[in-house]
Amino acid sequence: MARPALHALRAAHPRAEITACGPGALLELLAPEGLWRRAEALPGAPGLVGRLRAARFDAALVLPPSFSSAWLALRSGARLRVGFAHEGRSFLLTRALRRPERGDLHLSREYLQLSASLEASEVPLPGLGVDAGAVREAATLLLGAGLGERPIAILGPGAAYGPAKRWSTERFAALGRQLAARGMALLVCGAASERGVCEAVSAAIGARARSLAGETSLPVQAALCARATLTVSNDSGLAHLAAATGAPTVVVFGSTSSAWTAPLGPRVRVVQRAPVCSPCFARDCAIGYACLAAIDVEMVASAAGELVA
Ligand code: SF4
Repeated sequence: MARPALHALRAAHPRAEITACGPGALLELLAPEGLWRRAEALPGAPGLVGRLRAARFDAALVLPPSFSSAWLALRSGARLRVGFAHEGRSFLLTRALRRPERGDLHLSREYLQLSASLEASEVPLPGLGVDAGAVREAATLLLGAGLGERPIAILGPGAAYGPAKRWSTERFAALGRQLAARGMALLVCGAASERGVCEAVSAAIGARARSLAGETSLPVQAALCARATLTVSNDSGLAHLAAATGAPTVVVFGSTSSAWTAPLGPRVRVVQRAPVCSPCFARDCAIGYACLAAIDVEMVASAAGELVA
């Protein structure tokens, strides 16, 4: 979601000394994009604030809406601090923008509003650069599984957010069996915490499926998505990763708003059947997950078929 703003910033200020602060796994994933010169993984190692102050930043672009991120920007000593007014943190920022109502604007465009405060305008978004080492690692993994040249489809049945974003395990498995019948091998992917659901889907598909939950880094997962014929996922990090590589990606939406957070990419299909209660942004549902139940296997299979064709 942040990539358009980060690319806009880099293009507007090609000689700027940019330091990125964020989760280490995301910094590793985005490292090949050349968007910054230095990176600091958060939560910070000892001496972080001192190192930031020593850099004497002109500006801090605060993308997360948290109090702690604005607090870090203040302590960095950056003269100009731009972010959204949120969580009573406006006094920490020098420019606190009013955030649009959730869903009025795509989240990537909200971030572009922030970067515009630093004179950065939108530029064409390249596909996510995948690290060459990760591409080799993904190829080795596929060779080891006997899938060197085989068409593969990736399924992402997890979603850390909660059950209101998770299409049913049985429907993922049924879709997987359809794709297997068309000659595809299935990789069922997710974080280590999603191992249970990934293994259940893989077992229900049969011999053509394998669970890789928790077995890959983000760069290797990105390389696998870029190599895949298709990724079908819940609205989760995996969907965003696959879409950003430019690979065909079908994403199933439940309780949240695709207008706000649909994955960005040139070959993305969103499957959503929003009842009147949608979007509720809930993690659980008290009335039976009608938004997810309304999406049958044929709808997703048809979106996948059109996209791949
Ligand atoms: S309240 Fe409606 S939109 Fe929210 S999870 Fe339940 S069925 Fe889905």
